[in-house]
Amino acid sequence: MKDKKNDVIIIGAGVVGNAIARELSRYNIKVSVLEKELDVVCETSGRNSGVLHAGFNNKPGTLMAKFCVEGNIGFDKIAKELDIPFKRVGKLVTGFTKEDIQGLKELKERGEKNNVLGLEIISREEIKKLAPNVEGKAALYSKMTGILDPFIYTIALAENACENGVKFYLDREVLNIKRIDNYYEITTNKETFYSRWVINSAGLNSDKIARMVGIKDYTIHPCRGEYFILDKRAGSLLEIPAYPVPNKKEGGLGIHLTPSIHGNIFIGPSAQYIDENDNYSSTNDIMDMLINEGKKILPEIKKEHFIRNFSGIRPKLVDKEKGGYGDFVIEERNEIPNMINLIGIESPGLTSAVPIGKYVVEKIKEKESLKENKEFNPVRKSILKFSEQSEKKQEELIEKNPNYGEIVCRCETITKEEILQAINNPLGIDTVTGIKYRTRAMMGRCQGGYCQTRITELIMNEKNKDVKEIIYSRKYGNMFSGRVR
Ligand SMILES: Cc1cc2nc3c(=O)[nH]c(=O)nc-3n(C[C@H](O)[C@H](O)[C@H](O)COP(=O)(O)OP(=O)(O)OC[C@H]3O[C@@H](n4cnc5c(N)ncnc54)[C@H](O)[C@@H]3O)c2cc1C
Repeated sequence: MKDKKNDVIIIGAGVVGNAIARELSRYNIKVSVLEKELDVVCETSGRNSGVLHAGFNNKPGTLMAKFCVEGNIGFDKIAKELDIPFKRVGKLVTGFTKEDIQGLKELKERGEKNNVLGLEIISREEIKKLAPNVEGKAALYSKMTGILDPFIYTIALAENACENGVKFYLDREVLNIKRIDNYYEITTNKETFYSRWVINSAGLNSDKIARMVGIKDYTIHPCRGEYFILDKRAGSLLEIPAYPVPNKKEGGLGIHLTPSIHGNIFIGPSAQYIDENDNYSSTNDIMDMLINEGKKILPEIKKEHFIRNFSGIRPKLVDKEKGGYGDFVIEERNEIPNMINLIGIESPGLTSAVPIGKYVVEKIKEKESLKENKEFNPVRKSILKFSEQSEKKQEELIEKNPNYGEIVCRCETITKEEILQAINNPLGIDTVTGIKYRTRAMMGRCQGGYCQTRITELIMNEKNKDVKEIIYSRKYGNMFSGRVR
């Protein structure tokens, strides 16, 4: 019981929960994060475009607009502290028709109201200078937009929070919450936790968590977005995200093409309201539609470039009939004191995570003073990427540690040493996708065909596990039922 008594419990270890955890680790309080999955980036935070938005899509005066702009401006510092890859590549919203051009002007005006810097309407000739393969009669060019790796970012926030004293409890699904006197009793699939504060950052389940304490007026409407990933061989076709003018009634920003920070290209996402909040299927009709829409902006793309598809689900507060976007809800209700609910944290939630974290801390500080953690260290180190080092440095690394001389993932050039460091990560995660998200092994053209079994062997050896215990990603996702030979 003593160990499970906290000042703050955060439900959900996505990018937002982890950013809140990191902000809270700046203070001398006991904070724990409860996550139902076996890793910290299993839901929406790893299933998106990986774009650091500038803030011109959001309605002026909303929390979305405010936090997006703040998150964008502050990101260089965060990326440096957390040692994560990030590039401010800019973005093009391309228009073809008269209505589109009007739409571009409206977006620019909106952005300027939100204090977005560096927005320009540019001609076809200027589009071609920035992105020779992109089509459009005119475009809105946003120089502040960036790209990042959403897996590494979410993991880095959690690792830094953990290094600063926050406890992460994985495989803890919150099943019930009860207020007893001046604290909360939180029942999970394993033990029961106690806390003076509860932060509901459960993404697609945030409405269900709110209902556990009697807040019934929020409903999340899951809206799926499907994507294609193109091989790095096609990466040189596009170095700057290219979007169409968004349709105001739709649940997303339209089918766009986004270069990933690692040199792939994403096409998507679609926007389709669905009934279940965990149905990550990819469907034939949408796949065909993605190809057609993607080709309108980037005619050069070919089917042979496609290496994988995936989908993410937007936790929308607006239903299909209303369409468009709501605003982030981040509130504490008088009748449920010391519980902050974060609901409808859809796009631009990745961009906004740190400002959201700071806002939540301010809400707590309105009610009690927090003592500064003098030992807080904002710096976290990433696993050194062998493939990005100079030849000389690579030789030195191999000389000192022969594990750098053994390439495990050939497509992405990931060494045994990088895999071993990932297996021994600060959060103690040892699923196969856990290693994939931390190193990019299995994310290349062969999608793990060559290295996946080698990686499972390394997990077995390092963690002293039986083959039957190796889990791909989710609970009960055991990969093997025994040895074949
Ligand atoms: C298709 C798509 C594209 C997007 N593109 C962008 C983009 O380019 N840029 C951008 O800024 N934003 C983008 N977003 C939005 C962004 O991804 C989200 O706003 C953000 O990831 C939300 O983070 P989160 O931590 O709130 O949610 P999540 O990542 O879903 O985290 C919530 C966590 O809570 C856990 N949980 C749920 N229920 C329980 C329970 N009962 N007990 C314990 N744990 C629980 C879940 O397992 C999960 O790990 C996009 C979203 C989608 C779907």
